[in-house]
Amino acid sequence: MLRQTLSRHFLLLATCLCLAAAAQAQKLPNVMILATGGTIAGTGASSTTTVGYTAATVGVQQLIGAVPELAEVANVKGEQVFQIASESMTNEHWLTLGKRVNALLAQNDVDGIVITHGTDTMEETAYFLDLVVKSRKPVVLVGAMRPSTALSADGPINLFNAVLVAGSRDAVGKGVLVALNDQIHAARDVTKSNTSTPDSFRTPELGLLGYIQGGKPFFYRASTRRHTADTEFDIANVNTLPQVDIVYGYASMNTVALDAFVAAGAKGIIHAGVGDGSLAARVKPALIAARKKGTIIVRASRVGQGILARNGEANDDELDFIAADTLNPQKARILLMLALTRTTNTAEIQRMFYTY
Ligand code: ASP
Repeated sequence: MLRQTLSRHFLLLATCLCLAAAAQAQKLPNVMILATGGTIAGTGASSTTTVGYTAATVGVQQLIGAVPELAEVANVKGEQVFQIASESMTNEHWLTLGKRVNALLAQNDVDGIVITHGTDTMEETAYFLDLVVKSRKPVVLVGAMRPSTALSADGPINLFNAVLVAGSRDAVGKGVLVALNDQIHAARDVTKSNTSTPDSFRTPELGLLGYIQGGKPFFYRASTRRHTADTEFDIANVNTLPQVDIVYGYASMNTVALDAFVAAGAKGIIHAGVGDGSLAARVKPALIAARKKGTIIVRASRVGQGILARNGEANDDELDFIAADTLNPQKARILLMLALTRTTNTAEIQRMFYTY
């Protein structure tokens, strides 16, 4: 009799605990982790190998398994989208990823997305998604500067923090975010600033958006440029992006690369000029000729900070060129590709550069 009563109590207690756990899981946000490779999924020969390791070897389930604390802050699911080093990221990868993100965010059972990514082109993928994701739900890119096998690997804490941000209501409507080193940045303005240190991601001058501390994101500012659900770009039916290439400015610059890109069919050229996007005397005629043939020319700067002044170092009105505003050359390339999916009108494209 006593044994029967005890086992009934035990059963009741177990049921209660299960229900409590289920209720807790229901309260937690549902965060999808899309893995694409990079150093966060990299492995080195030893625990002190922090350079010269192999990127993109660890799978998404292993990444999640390495951070059991994730289960306390979100219901996480993983999906391996690619397994590559981010220097090999292409327009085609971006289109696939963007469509997958849009499909997942349209589901009621997905509250936010974390994308694990190599750091080399993370800022580019983030800005591309910032322009094509059709949702206000959080999308957070995360990576690591040290491989998963290193002493003090930064991947696990970065992943934990990124999931916190992706599951946070405070991150809704902030656009695509990049979270590393306890900091949150806006996709449009963040850049990789150091080849190897964990504090590599910076938003020079304009500033980061916030921090992650004590298991909680804190936001202090937001980007003022249009993004995600408010953009005019839609990749649902886009299968290829127009060819846009970057020519780099330097003393003694010549036209070899520019001529080759135009001959190869470039629809747009980003001129990553010195200073405020100045045009070298020996290059300017080739840019003018390219524009006359129909190629769109965007003047950007290799400096990395500041506004590229329209009609400053060149008469853009007369030459029918576009000024990149504060976008760095690699991000100007992304905006121009997307702009070219809608129009070749240079006034319209310039408007987009002042809008996004
Ligand atoms: N080369 C690596 C990549 O971008 C670097 C990193 O992830 O930190 O995939």
